[in-house]
Amino acid sequence: MEPDLPVKAPAYVRADGTLGYDMDESFRDSIGTLDEKGKRKWVFAKKTKGRFTTLRTLVSIVLLGFLFAAPLVRINGNPLLLFNILERKFYILGQPFWPQDFYLVVLGFIASLAALALFTVAFGRIFCGWICPQTIFMEMVFRRIEYWIEGDAPAQKRLSAQSWNLEKTWKRSLKHLVFWGISFLIGNTFLAYIIGSEQLFEIITSSPADHIEGFIGMVVFTTAFYLVFSQFREQVCIVACPYGRLQGVLLDNNSVVVAYDYSRGEPRGKFRKGEERTLGDCINCYQCVQVCPTGIDIRNGTQLECVNCTACIDACDDIMTRIGKPRGLIRYASQNEIALKQPFRFSGRMKGYAVVVALLLGLILTLLFTRKDVETTVLRMPGSTYQELKDGSYANIYKYQLINKTNRDMAIELHLLEPTGGKAEVTRADKHLVVPRGAMLAGQLVVTLPYDRIKGLKTEVTIGVYVNGALADQQTVNFLGPIK
Ligand code: SF4
Ligand code: SF4
Repeated sequence: MEPDLPVKAPAYVRADGTLGYDMDESFRDSIGTLDEKGKRKWVFAKKTKGRFTTLRTLVSIVLLGFLFAAPLVRINGNPLLLFNILERKFYILGQPFWPQDFYLVVLGFIASLAALALFTVAFGRIFCGWICPQTIFMEMVFRRIEYWIEGDAPAQKRLSAQSWNLEKTWKRSLKHLVFWGISFLIGNTFLAYIIGSEQLFEIITSSPADHIEGFIGMVVFTTAFYLVFSQFREQVCIVACPYGRLQGVLLDNNSVVVAYDYSRGEPRGKFRKGEERTLGDCINCYQCVQVCPTGIDIRNGTQLECVNCTACIDACDDIMTRIGKPRGLIRYASQNEIALKQPFRFSGRMKGYAVVVALLLGLILTLLFTRKDVETTVLRMPGSTYQELKDGSYANIYKYQLINKTNRDMAIELHLLEPTGGKAEVTRADKHLVVPRGAMLAGQLVVTLPYDRIKGLKTEVTIGVYVNGALADQQTVNFLGPIK
């Protein structure tokens, strides 16, 4: 039986006596969705079924449920997640975060990047295939709608090639209408993460003229998602996503990726029932290529286009079962596992990333648990000077800002701690400051010092912030006095 190989050079004999082949690597000259002239090749991916598809469907249902429900969920009356960049107010797991906590956000972001890098070094683009919203929406929502309306890949190809008759018109119109509706839903959900669900409902239920910015945001988000999922599709993963671009530097021979076991599959060749097989297990049926949503042939090796969606694993497992061979010709495996039969090992690089992630997580947790409940800012009123009072003491006026970072209202008192003998008083009529949970209170404060406590032009004064009678924070500022 003759092998059916994409060979460029004749076969050679390896040191261990097995046959090796110089593969034609010209596929690496361009991405899989471009033809020789650089024109986009539309991918008509075939429907898949199998254990990975089922598992991914279940994971997607859970993640989509979370994505759509999270803006509506409240913890102690606070949103579960809110990233209100317009009002600079953030809630993570119901905990309020302010711009003053930005260092935590930055550290969290760095830790997430390090964790993602570790994950990628160990398990390749598993995030892309299982968790990334782009893949989930594209493969589990939009492509399934396409199957439902236009049929499987061959029917889609036929429809695309035929002229605009009644069938093509109604199928395409229905598809794009549904795509637009789902994009509207996704756009609104993302908007809810930014402005909050209450404000979103207000925008939806009132005239666009009353909320022109919100309405524009809604249209922009909806249009962007519609264009991504109806036109740009897999190109997001191939050419736009920066994480995808990083694969080349993150993956090594120990990374577990969706891989074709060429040592078992080659030399590939047609399957003939009843005939004794002298070739490898790959029967060159192209099922793995036909299901690939990024239009590649995984048998060529790891490629930047592969989003580890596992469709080719299911397709090939199905073929292997039919021809009576063990599953796993395409499977999660590292290059070293396939070439050298080495089991998975935690490489030095992985250990290094793990240490960085652990350190960052430790730092974030420490900072989170030692975060003050109340954040105080006291600044001297710009342009003001000291004032001499009738009793011979001197006064300075300050601006204060109190941020309550907890989920309960706070009764706050401000007292002068240093130097003794003076006092700090808020200028408002109601001297009992109550800062509602997750809110900010600002006002003016007058600090008075007797003459003998003033050191000269600048005297340091410390103001204590008491919550329910206990000292919770303190601020030291300069007090302007007469030159002595
Ligand atoms: S090669 Fe396989 S895992 Fe990679 S994108 Fe294509 S079908 Fe998905
Ligand atoms: S599905 Fe499996 S047998 Fe068929 S071409 Fe792909 S690797 Fe070979």
